[in-house]
Amino acid sequence: MKLHMQILIALGLGIKRNGHIFLGIIGGIIVGILLHSHPNILASNILTFIGQVFIRLIQMVVIPLVVSAIIIGITSVGDNKQLGKFGSKMVLYYGIITTLAVTIGTILALIIKPGVGAANYIAENAASEVQATVAATMQQQQGNILNIFLGFIPNNPFHSLAVGDMVPIIVFCLIFAIALSKVGDVNRPIVSFFESVFAATMKITDWIMFMAAPGVFALTASAVSSFGIEIFSSISKYLLVLLIGFLIQLCVVYPLFLKKVSKVSVVMLYSAVTEAMMVAFGTASSSATLPLTIACCEKRGISHKISSFVLPLGATLNMDGTALLQVVAVIFLAQAYGVPLDLFLIIQIAILAIIASSTCAGIPGAGLITIALILNGMGLSPEQLVTGFAFLFTIERITDMMRTLVNVTSDVVVAAAIADNENEINYDLLNNPAAYEEIA
Ligand code: ASP
Repeated sequence: MKLHMQILIALGLGIKRNGHIFLGIIGGIIVGILLHSHPNILASNILTFIGQVFIRLIQMVVIPLVVSAIIIGITSVGDNKQLGKFGSKMVLYYGIITTLAVTIGTILALIIKPGVGAANYIAENAASEVQATVAATMQQQQGNILNIFLGFIPNNPFHSLAVGDMVPIIVFCLIFAIALSKVGDVNRPIVSFFESVFAATMKITDWIMFMAAPGVFALTASAVSSFGIEIFSSISKYLLVLLIGFLIQLCVVYPLFLKKVSKVSVVMLYSAVTEAMMVAFGTASSSATLPLTIACCEKRGISHKISSFVLPLGATLNMDGTALLQVVAVIFLAQAYGVPLDLFLIIQIAILAIIASSTCAGIPGAGLITIALILNGMGLSPEQLVTGFAFLFTIERITDMMRTLVNVTSDVVVAAAIADNENEINYDLLNNPAAYEEIA
């Protein structure tokens, strides 16, 4: 059977197991379209409220989960050499997948040329109400790349925890956990403490997932009501490039990658994590989906040692869907405004997209903000920058939902590949969907 058919069947199995979440997405799309054509403030407010309750509940567990997962993940590996091996493999695999995403996005955008002739359309549709915000964001993003990296080192980890600044939190946890694994048995009380924190946050995740279907329904409906379906006809070429790019990542790149580096069946893997993929689409946040991503992986065969280490890092640093969007968006604007795209500029865009995507947080809209980092060096006039960027804002949410699904899937793909390489995967469970524990 052809691979794409197998993938569809896998997703079908996952959806069947969790039909209510899928129905939530479909129902959300339908209600969103209706609300777009017949606005109703009360209904919109209720949907926003339900969606926010769901998002806030999962965000509530993200920080304790990430901190405890990294600390127990690293201390359970213990041995420095093994940790180095996991870590370097993770960086290599995430790097390969993101580079492929950027290459695919660039090639598609250069062939399909979504931006040619789009300048007037951009000017007419750039949301005027966001232009002031956009100009301020561009200003903020002008700091050089070294400053961005500097910001990764927390000068006060408690401040980072309080404001939910993920990268500095992760950096601190990594260093702290490595130190803990070096101090011998005195680390037991604190490791046991974090084991309890992890177990409790996973339990809370199980409870929150009872709200997954209404939550995803409300979030999807709110999002769709803000843009309607006309969006697909009006900027069809731009969305088409993104859609093709994301599908190539999901249906060609990940299957080939898994085949090359592991024995993991992409079909089984997708079927095991369908819930996380659907929630990623609904929430447009890798971080908010993280508790569910970990639950799907751990309950369906990928060891705790690997998932607790690779997935939290992936949810923050591995953003291949975002990187793909960023190259396409920047090339789109360059084509629209007639910036000549020579090889040097294309390579510059690609490298900056890899950096910008991995510095963005796993929250809605973060990937668009960091595009400013790339756009600033493109030679566009200040007015073009603001209008172009404001235009991207108007079609942001739908592209965010799609790229977040890709981001989360690639985290899982890399975790599964490393788990395979390190004999940390239970194939009897992964390859037997009938034995999967219910999650949502
Ligand atoms: N929303 C994306 C994520 O959470 C990040 C982005 O804005 O691209 O993965």
